[in-house]
Amino acid sequence: MLGNRIGVISCSGEECLGGTISRLAVRKMMEELKPGMVSTLCLPLFIAGDGGEREFAEKYPTIAVDGCSKCCAKRAIEKYSSAVAGSIDVAEIIGEAKALEKPLSTRYITDLHMEYVNQTAAKTCEIFDEILAKQ
Ligand code: SF4
Repeated sequence: MLGNRIGVISCSGEECLGGTISRLAVRKMMEELKPGMVSTLCLPLFIAGDGGEREFAEKYPTIAVDGCSKCCAKRAIEKYSSAVAGSIDVAEIIGEAKALEKPLSTRYITDLHMEYVNQTAAKTCEIFDEILAKQ
């Protein structure tokens, strides 16, 4: 959904826990913490070049939420659009070794995983609020 003027894009990491956390954090942000206030961009669509995602990130501030230090979402935005307005690396929050653990089905999410999701979502919201304050 690209109706708002601040965007967020999570990496599509299906290979590790950091990717799971990044996606759940962005979902929490859009559904609970900033409902109706943020445009969420799809990384695969962004890379494919369809759907207006690249144009959106060129025009409006966009935050990348990446699951590990490879920072795929951030690098894609910077390659195809422009500098990111902010970026989160889940590995900096939970540690690189943890971030690279096996991905998790939401059926097996523990309280500790939810704490990681909450921390990541809170940091993303901090960046969001800073951007909003400048608009
Ligand atoms: S940033 Fe890391 S977890 Fe996310 S897609 Fe890239 S390699 Fe996978």
